Amino acid sequence: MTRELTHFIGGVHVTGTSGRFADVWDPSEGVVQARVPLASTSEVEAAIANAAEAQREWGAWNPQRRARVLLRFLELIEKDTPSIARLLASEHGKTVDDAKGDIQRGVEVIEFAAGAPHLLKGEYTTGAGTGIDVYSMRQPLGVVAGITPFNFPAMIPLWKAGPALAAGNAFILKPSERDPSVPLRIGELFLEAGLPAGVLNVVNGDKEAVDAILHNERVKAVGFVGSTPIAQYIYATAAANGKRAQCFGGAKNHMIVMPDADLDQVADALIGAGYGSAGERCMAISVAVPVGAETADALAARLTERVRYLTVGPALEEGSDYGPLVTAEAKKRVEGYIQLGVDEGAELLADGRGYIVEGHENGFYLGPTLFDRVTTDMTIYREEIFGPVLIIARADDYEQALAMATDHEFGNGVSIFTRDGDAARDFSARVEVGMVGVNVPIPVPIAYHTFGGWKKSGFGDLNQHGPDAFRFYTKTKTVTSRWPSGIKEGASFVIPTMH
Ligand code: NAD
Repeated sequence: MTRELTHFIGGVHVTGTSGRFADVWDPSEGVVQARVPLASTSEVEAAIANAAEAQREWGAWNPQRRARVLLRFLELIEKDTPSIARLLASEHGKTVDDAKGDIQRGVEVIEFAAGAPHLLKGEYTTGAGTGIDVYSMRQPLGVVAGITPFNFPAMIPLWKAGPALAAGNAFILKPSERDPSVPLRIGELFLEAGLPAGVLNVVNGDKEAVDAILHNERVKAVGFVGSTPIAQYIYATAAANGKRAQCFGGAKNHMIVMPDADLDQVADALIGAGYGSAGERCMAISVAVPVGAETADALAARLTERVRYLTVGPALEEGSDYGPLVTAEAKKRVEGYIQLGVDEGAELLADGRGYIVEGHENGFYLGPTLFDRVTTDMTIYREEIFGPVLIIARADDYEQALAMATDHEFGNGVSIFTRDGDAARDFSARVEVGMVGVNVPIPVPIAYHTFGGWKKSGFGDLNQHGPDAFRFYTKTKTVTSRWPSGIKEGASFVIPTMH
């Protein structure tokens, strides 16, 4: 009998009533390990109504008291990290060590969000006019939502929920239906940490649940992370329904390799950033751009040599560099891109298709794949592949490499490897990409700075985590007050000005 997961609404596990389910796979073995209910519109509406009720009390707590819940959550999740990491790895397919990193990057945002009392402070001007003081305050929006992807089932829910809750909102989390168990566990841990029941609700589902969120007028803001077509859909629909939206989409992250770079260091960085988590990271490096033929030949030789030693294996077994793809469908999609690359005339230096992991023959494994001489008109250059496929797209000179990253329709992350500070500085200033690494292969900003891509990688004008997260999940109210002791002006019919 397949294990049946639930929703987590009002502080309790709730059995789905829609009669619709999705399979949750164990990608390392290629078997279904559970099924998750897909919420109906009425189930989502009930969760939102519940959240709105719970938010009244939570929003009235002082910020320090709310922050203490986050601090207690941090203790609980730290204690539970080994078991949560295994649960995460078993559904996603990333290695247990990588799953710990997934949790840790989320934890770092909770640590940041625990500073909410400071971050929620308003501004104050005394004596803006005679007897006039002006101050602003940040207030919670009410009920807000997060719709999250499969590839970081701990980190991204925590990026969204942490600041939203600390700011006094109630939160509806609609995680990916492909790996919902860790989000459910996060809901339990927050309750145990003292969050009032109903303030954080995990509603599992697909498009129907998302549409129910988007069309419910009690939901004031939607934070989304996932693929670009869905990001665009959610951004447009949320806006049409009068909601705030920040929607982060797909990526095609380039690494520019200058002729003066240390090529061994570059090869290590590319192997880790290209194949880690089977390439299923929005900040994976998927395009290496060596500058000049000599750099390109030397880099291609090093990468070809190194991919031969990568170990692909079950997520829960130690010693794997990376695990399987998340589903058979994802694997098939990536295989399709590999064939397309061959058909388009790219040079296949390593072919990961047909990779067998002994004893786990049904798992969704793909070996590391490496293409050289990929040109900018090829589909495998233009589209996000989201698998263990690294492509080399050669540039004749620095300006061409810069233009490639700038002209690409995605603008999530980019990095440059060089010893030349001048080139690095020029690149950082001119490239049209949201997050830049200098000799850093995965430039995910730390929790107290903000994370966000440009162009088709991000829609909306505020980033994730850092101070932007508090701006996104609060509304600003500005109060102008006057205590006119003894001032008698009579009625005035002109707009007040400060003079
Ligand atoms: P996805 O777009 O398929 O799903 C994301 C979320 O949207 C899920 O909760 C899913 O249930 C929901 N959804 C799916 N189809 C929908 C539809 N038709 N209508 C409404 N909702 C729908 O993305 P994914 O496959 O889970 O995640 C991988 C993608 O996410 C990649 O493109 C990756 O680059 C991107 N990603 C981006 C960032 C970033 O910060 N830019 C971070 C992580 C992942």
